[in-house]
Amino acid sequence: MALIVQKFGGTSVGTVERIEQVADKVKKFREAGDDLVVVLSAMSGETNRLIDLAKKISGDGQPVPRELDVIVSTGEQVTIALLAMALIKRGVPAVSYTGNQVRILTDSAHNKARILQIDDQKIRGDLKAGRVVVVAGFQGVDEHGNITTLGRGGSDTTGVALAAALKADECQIYTDVDGVYTTDPRVVSVAQRLDKITFEEMLEMASLGSKVLQIRAVEFAGKYNVPLRVLHRFKEG
Ligand code: ADP
Ligand code: ASP
Ligand code: MG
Repeated sequence: MALIVQKFGGTSVGTVERIEQVADKVKKFREAGDDLVVVLSAMSGETNRLIDLAKKISGDGQPVPRELDVIVSTGEQVTIALLAMALIKRGVPAVSYTGNQVRILTDSAHNKARILQIDDQKIRGDLKAGRVVVVAGFQGVDEHGNITTLGRGGSDTTGVALAAALKADECQIYTDVDGVYTTDPRVVSVAQRLDKITFEEMLEMASLGSKVLQIRAVEFAGKYNVPLRVLHRFKEG
C-alpha cells in the first residue's frame, strides 16, 4: 500500500463533469489500497477572474496584497468541497481542508509566500481512519493567521510540499499534457516526451518559463527527494 499525493490542475477540475472524472480516478486508486491526499487547483480561469475583480475595485488597479490573497484563495475552496462531495457520493469517505485548516504555515510574503512548515497530524489521522484527504492548493496561512498564496501555479508546490511532509511514495501531477516534453508541446509540435528528467534539468526548464511545474515545486522535490510524475488527467500511461 502506497501513500500518494495527487495534484489536479485547473483544467482537470474545470467543470463539475471533470470533477466527477477526478473522483472516479481517485476512487480507483483508493480501491487498489492506496492512501491518498489530493491537492486541487481552482477551476481553470477562476483565479484570473478573481484577480480581475480585485483589480476592478482597486482604484489604481493594484489590489492590496493581503486582500488579494483573501479573494484568490477562494477558487480552491470551491473545488475541494466539490471533489469531497463527489467522493462521498461514490461511497469513498473524504474530507476537504483549506491551507489554514491543515496548517500550511508560510511566511508573510502575500501573493508569493513560501511554505515554512506543514502540520501533518490532521491528515495522518484522516488517512488512518480511511479517508481521502482533499487539500486546497496554492494557499497557506502566516504566523498571524493571515491567508497567503504561493504565486501563480502554486498548487504544484502545495502537492510536492505535502508529499515531502508526509514522506509520500510519490507525487503525481495530473494536467492537460501526458508528461514533461523537451519544450512546450503546445508550441512546438515535434517536442519529445521525456521518460525521465533530473531535478536539476527540470529546475532549469522551470526557470526558463516552462509552466508545467512551478519552479518552487521542483526545488522542493529536489531538496526532499520527492519522486514526481507528470501525467495526463485521463490518458493512461
Ligand atoms: P495545470 O493547470 O494542470 O497546472 P498548466 O497549464 O499550469 O497546467 O501546465 C501545463 C501546461 O504546461 C501544458 O498545457 C503545456 O502547454 C505547458 N508546458 C510548457 N512547457 C512544457 C514542457 N516542457 N512539457 C510539458 N508541458 C509544458
Ligand atoms: N489557481 C492558481 C493559479 O491559477 C494555482 C494553480 O493553479 O496552481 O495560479
Ligand atoms: Mg500549473
